[in-house]
Amino acid sequence: MDLVLFGIQGSGKGTQAKRFAAEHGYRIFEAGGELRAMAATGTLLGETVKSYIDEGKLVPFAIIMDVVGAAIKACPFDQPLLFDGIPRDRAQMESFDRIMEEASRGFFCIELLVDEEAAIQRILKRAEAEGRKDDADEAIIRRRMATFHEKTSPVIETYRKAGKVVKVEGEGTVEEVFERFVRAVNQWKKKLS
Ligand code: AMP
Repeated sequence: MDLVLFGIQGSGKGTQAKRFAAEHGYRIFEAGGELRAMAATGTLLGETVKSYIDEGKLVPFAIIMDVVGAAIKACPFDQPLLFDGIPRDRAQMESFDRIMEEASRGFFCIELLVDEEAAIQRILKRAEAEGRKDDADEAIIRRRMATFHEKTSPVIETYRKAGKVVKVEGEGTVEEVFERFVRAVNQWKKKLS
């Protein structure tokens, strides 16, 4: 069973995703990371992607869906996937659902809940460590948060109504959150078995 992870920027989602994937045998698909790698290629497509990232806007549908579609198709059936950062709006959700259905892959979602102001402070700190332009400007961070509320929250709501979302409290140490995360996944798996 695959896993889709939701959470606002700075929720610690990336950290939890990487650790969970490494310890539980999941292959990770990190949308932001894939797009940043594309942006770094210096090609025309890369430059286009970079301009969206730098402004804190969603990269066009066709670009991100091509990348995720290829990753899903290339993944062996018995290899579970962990999606971080996708789907982020309704169009992506509809396309994602279709691709997953065609690949006969089931999934459920974890929503990491954190305080927004604390998340903004975490991102500004991360900007210093990672040198990310889109993390260093508070106005751009707030735009990304607004996009999350406007476009991603309705996606989570749709999945919630379909009974596919488990909430995990994201405040606390990385260790504490990870324990809750693993517990939530195990409870979900138990429910299915
Ligand atoms: P993140 O690392 O998740 O904060 O993503 C960084 C940036 O990558 C976002 O601000 C978007 O510009 C782009 N991005 C990440 N995921 C997506 C997605 N699913 N659809 C479109 N753009 C995305």
